[in-house]
Amino acid sequence: MKFPVHQSIRRAVRVLASALAAVAAAALSSCQSTGGNYGPGAGFFNTVIVDAGHGGHDEGAHACSGAHEKSLALDTSRRLASVLRSNGMRVIENRTGDYFVTLAKRTSVSNNTGQAVFVSIHYNHSERRGAQGIEIYYNALRAKRLAANILRESLRAYSTDNRGIKKGRYYVLRNNRRPSVLCELGFVSNPSDNRNIQNPAVRQRIAERVAAGILAEKAGRRP
Ligand SMILES: [Zn+2]
Repeated sequence: MKFPVHQSIRRAVRVLASALAAVAAAALSSCQSTGGNYGPGAGFFNTVIVDAGHGGHDEGAHACSGAHEKSLALDTSRRLASVLRSNGMRVIENRTGDYFVTLAKRTSVSNNTGQAVFVSIHYNHSERRGAQGIEIYYNALRAKRLAANILRESLRAYSTDNRGIKKGRYYVLRNNRRPSVLCELGFVSNPSDNRNIQNPAVRQRIAERVAAGILAEKAGRRP
């Protein structure tokens, strides 16, 4: 039996539409199944509070050789701020020199800034010299995906261990109304990590990768 031409076209369109709907549904369900445990994400933001850990009399962790944590965190943070700005982000830096900033002040800057995420930059220390690697802390669930995005990217900066994302009840995370993470970007107590961290070219790569993680979160990418 032969259908008039317009009727067969209508049929073809109906078949195509249902096939497209099936593809869309499959794509949606695969997104949900891979990303569901990361929560809703940070949502819209156009500002990053870059928080260089320690400063002034608070030197942070002492490196096995070279500069201490406060200087390394500041240098990395300044590089991060610069990379983010060149990618069109608004950036507020909590510390731009070697001086002490209270945890309350760091957090209130974040709480008084709308449409922002808070990223604190640190380097780690352990009595066990063999301990090495990168770990990213979050407290609120909505910052979990940001932590995972930063972890995935920052592990590409230099060769070290993946220590994962972790829930941490640090003051600057607990008292923060914005999605906030604390990045421990390697161990200055470990000779291998420290060799990398003391190298300005590696710190530049770390800053670029942390920025890439933040931009991936802004784009809604699932880790
Ligand atoms: Zn620290």
